[in-house]
Amino acid sequence: MKTSLVLVVLGVLVSAQARAQQGVPESERTLAREIYRELVETDTTHSSGSTTRAAELVAARLRAGGIPDADIAQLGPSATKGNLVARLHGSGTEKPLVLLAHLDVVEAKREDWSVDPFVLLEQDGYFYGRGTLDDKAMASIFTTILLRLAREHTPLRRDVVLVLSADEEAGDENGAEWLLREHRPLVDGGLVLNEGGGGWMRQGRYLVLAMQASEKTYMDYALRVTDKGGHSSLPTPENAIYRLAAGLLRVQKLVFPVELNEVTRAFLQRAAITESKEIAAAMRALAANAKDPAAARRLSQEPRYNALIRTTCVATEVQAGHARNALPQSAVANVNCRILPGHSAAEVRAALVTAIADSKVEVALDEKEIAGPPASVDAEVLRAVESVAAQVFPGVPVVPTMSSGATDSKYFRLAGIPAYGVSGIFSDIDDVRAHGRDERVGVKQFYEGQEFLWRLVGELTASPQ
Ligand SMILES: [Zn+2]
Repeated sequence: MKTSLVLVVLGVLVSAQARAQQGVPESERTLAREIYRELVETDTTHSSGSTTRAAELVAARLRAGGIPDADIAQLGPSATKGNLVARLHGSGTEKPLVLLAHLDVVEAKREDWSVDPFVLLEQDGYFYGRGTLDDKAMASIFTTILLRLAREHTPLRRDVVLVLSADEEAGDENGAEWLLREHRPLVDGGLVLNEGGGGWMRQGRYLVLAMQASEKTYMDYALRVTDKGGHSSLPTPENAIYRLAAGLLRVQKLVFPVELNEVTRAFLQRAAITESKEIAAAMRALAANAKDPAAARRLSQEPRYNALIRTTCVATEVQAGHARNALPQSAVANVNCRILPGHSAAEVRAALVTAIADSKVEVALDEKEIAGPPASVDAEVLRAVESVAAQVFPGVPVVPTMSSGATDSKYFRLAGIPAYGVSGIFSDIDDVRAHGRDERVGVKQFYEGQEFLWRLVGELTASPQ
């Protein structure tokens, strides 16, 4: 009796997975492309655009797809910063799966581009347009997935919540942060899939599938020296500019210790295959022993690995003096730090103060402190990503990553909700165009991402009922 029940349950589970593995039919691809076009052609920049318009377009699609009004929310802190949250109901066996993508895009000037940034152009095997990669591919793919799950009445073991947010790139009304603060029950969940991952390829060769599991924390510090000033024809030994400059030279020499976490250790082990023999050996050696001085020295010479293994601080701006013929009354520098998870902004401030060793150089934290959560990778989610990656990208390893920049995953992780950057959309690591000119995504890579995310959502939500 028990055995047969298990067999029946297994049978239904297998058929749910088999259904997911049949892949994405042409009609779904066409729909994704159509939503993609609508989103790219809706200006959602901070200066002249509106995410509210984009949210309305998606809401109309969802309503037409039979999702009840009660399960679609359009909300935001201001008229042009609309967010969209939509829910499909599951059995509630597990906490909701949140599919998160931001609707807003970085500014794009027509005269800077070789094509119109607000027209989706398919040319030479690419989709061109602002937001094609960051982040309207995921927004349209997630919307298409939600519509298909609703249309096919797919039994789900958990709710699926689509969150399309505002203000990730610019502006101070960050949609994800605002939604978590003001409408937590709407966007609460057990797991978030977001941007920040994707596949790395080089000249068409697929290297690794990145699964972003952690981020460094961005923090600015103001170094400030003030002085009474005076006439520049009568210099004194005290000078705000010299004092600040001396302090900055000590910041230049400040090197934070090497520290690995679960994510960066796994990254060094698994991503070594993408590197030259020498760097690969250093990556493996450091993963095995974070105190290996030769490996640390070698990796520290590569800016991207240096940033991976330690907190970094660097001077980025200076403002000093008020006239060419006056002694400076003030000198201020901005020092931008990227802090490893698990460390606080106050700790880094203390390290700066110690390194500068001059009480006349004031070190102020520029923003309210948000310390990053510790880095970790959930074994079950990693297994699901690996199993789907093996189907869609056989032979391409999954590599957990920590990014030195920030995404909205930060706000979810701080709220205690695990978030991962994973998309299955591959792009060339030597040709990064997100935020830049002529942003584009390979047509093949876009549909592969759709295939990958459809299967992954199936894996994470399939219900035995
Ligand atoms: Zn983005």
